[in-house]
Amino acid sequence: MKIGIVGAGMVGSTTAFALVLNRIGREIVLVDNDAKRAAAEAEDIVHAAPFAHAMTVRSGGFADLDGAAIVVLAAGVSQQPGETRIELLGRNVAVFRAIIPSVLEVTPDAILLIATNPVDIMTQVATRIAGLSPNRVIGSGTILDTARFRVLLGQHLDVSAKSIHAHVLGEHGDSEVLHWSGALAGTMPIDQFADQIGRPLTSQVRAEIKDGVRLAAYRIIEGKGATYYGIGAGLSLIIRAILGDERRLLTVSIVSPQSEGLGDVAMSLPRVVGRGGVTQSLSPDLTDAEEEALTHSATVLKQALDSLQAQ
Ligand code: NAD
Repeated sequence: MKIGIVGAGMVGSTTAFALVLNRIGREIVLVDNDAKRAAAEAEDIVHAAPFAHAMTVRSGGFADLDGAAIVVLAAGVSQQPGETRIELLGRNVAVFRAIIPSVLEVTPDAILLIATNPVDIMTQVATRIAGLSPNRVIGSGTILDTARFRVLLGQHLDVSAKSIHAHVLGEHGDSEVLHWSGALAGTMPIDQFADQIGRPLTSQVRAEIKDGVRLAAYRIIEGKGATYYGIGAGLSLIIRAILGDERRLLTVSIVSPQSEGLGDVAMSLPRVVGRGGVTQSLSPDLTDAEEEALTHSATVLKQALDSLQAQ
């Protein structure tokens, strides 16, 4: 299977590297405005193939995406001095307007996987530009926040993050919602597990974990300029779920009708991911406070979209 990646910066290249290490797909094509960078990344990454998985990794133009089953969109421009968030968003939308028709011209049946931030808005924009069914235009959404939540819960409870089942819902951003009431360790409600091992989830612990999840990107960007390992691994997992028709439950973002009663808003909910993209979307049981927080998150996204349209 061919996988296309448009935007061979830190996120796009790390995704390709994760695909090789995780043995997913047969061929990766990196496309970037900066053709020299894309070629150098492809050459560097393919040198990992003999240690992992026989795979072709190359760079090319949009024509080389011909027949790709999935195309990751990780292209983006960075914020200029004095530029507002909404102006930056406008420029990233222009990038998508240029890219998406070129991708679909050569591979009209591809599933689009969106990583560019703000990922929920970009997913909504991409869905409109592509004119594809929303279940085939998938934003990475809170897949990374969910991973961060599981890591921090696992650390607190001294148990593998893989045994923690806990989701972050809503926006991939400040208004995201940690779904505490649905969190499990194995099959036990998380509070019950925490109490039994004498490490209760007090309000202080919860606040620390919430900040740990919400502020992770700010901290990492301050320390090294960008985040890419977690999202690269997450995107590779979404791709595996699609190519292998795994029907895996993931918190990804797609445009859902009447999200929180606000009309079409792309945000993350638990969704089943398989061959056709998102095959089911779920509405988990929430406490009143969680429900209110999720509505707030959807409102934040709706307002950002409205201000983009008003620009
Ligand atoms: P980067 O600057 O390293 O890479 C972006 C690449 O896009 C560059 O190589 C640039 O040349 C390319 N590009 C720009 N316009 C293009 C166009 N029209 N056609 C082809 N290529 C083009 O940035 P990065 O660190 O890789 O981040 C990429 C995006 O992913 C950003 O928007 C970032 O905020 C986002 N991101 C998302 C998540 C998530 O959880 N979804 C996590 C981390 C980063």
